[in-house]
Amino acid sequence: MKGITVSACLILSCHIAAAAEEERAVERAIMVQEQLANRRATGGRSVSVPPPSLSGDATGSAPMASNRNVADHLSIRNPKVLEAMRTVPRHWFVPAAMQRDAYADRPLPIGFGQTISQPYIVALMTELLDAGPGSKILEVGTGSGYQAAILTKFTPNVYTMEIVEPLQKQALPRLQRFGLGGERVLHGDGYFGLEKEAPFDGIIVTAAADHIPPPLLQQLRPGGRMIIPIGPVHAIQRLVVVEKDAAGKVRSRSVHPVNFVPLTGGPRAAGKK
Ligand code: SAH
Repeated sequence: MKGITVSACLILSCHIAAAAEEERAVERAIMVQEQLANRRATGGRSVSVPPPSLSGDATGSAPMASNRNVADHLSIRNPKVLEAMRTVPRHWFVPAAMQRDAYADRPLPIGFGQTISQPYIVALMTELLDAGPGSKILEVGTGSGYQAAILTKFTPNVYTMEIVEPLQKQALPRLQRFGLGGERVLHGDGYFGLEKEAPFDGIIVTAAADHIPPPLLQQLRPGGRMIIPIGPVHAIQRLVVVEKDAAGKVRSRSVHPVNFVPLTGGPRAAGKK
């Protein structure tokens, strides 16, 4: 009898969980439609609302630094990017206290002063990276793991590096669901890239630097592309597309205003050790 009650409860809770996931899928479809595919003109640029502070954060971390990504009205056109944004559950990457806002178009705190980027910026960077099924990609700044999960919808060959070890540890089990194991979700200073896996067809940096880290440029394959926010920290930066042609010549263009948390680490930090 007891066994029957337990299995009835299990079936019921499975149903409830499935219904909740379905509801989130609907929210995701609306997000894709309204915030990405048919992004409305905002009369120029607008800065998204600062995310709420994360009291009672599951990670028990310090309050976040500001990361208000700046949005304008460029719609996302690549159907594969829209499909990836529709299929990857962003709420799996958002702390429990922030679940309600998982499909709002804004960055959210993930603890340790860091953020999961605004969905629009994730979609835009993915579109600009333009990874193909055979591409080998390096992401610097794993954070929640969401951007890396989106990238797995384009290629299985994704590496991601995070300098804050507890964040890397949290992201790993989430990313295992997308086929990325411990040899691909790495703790380390991504300023220096990942020499042993280089060269990369694409590099995506999801923290802001005041210059392009030379090791990353060096690890970019001729014909490859890097997407990186460049500019002053704690201010508006520019999203920059860096392209290395077959002859190794580098060109860059600035495409969009953004506001990312800073890229830490680098030679100065390494020197202090
Ligand atoms: N891509 C993330 C959001 C990035 S927030 C997501 O989808 O959730 C920026 C992240 O970059 C933070 O987690 C921060 O700790 C990390 N970071 C900053 N400097 C770094 C460095 N030098 N190497 C690797 N990660 C770094």
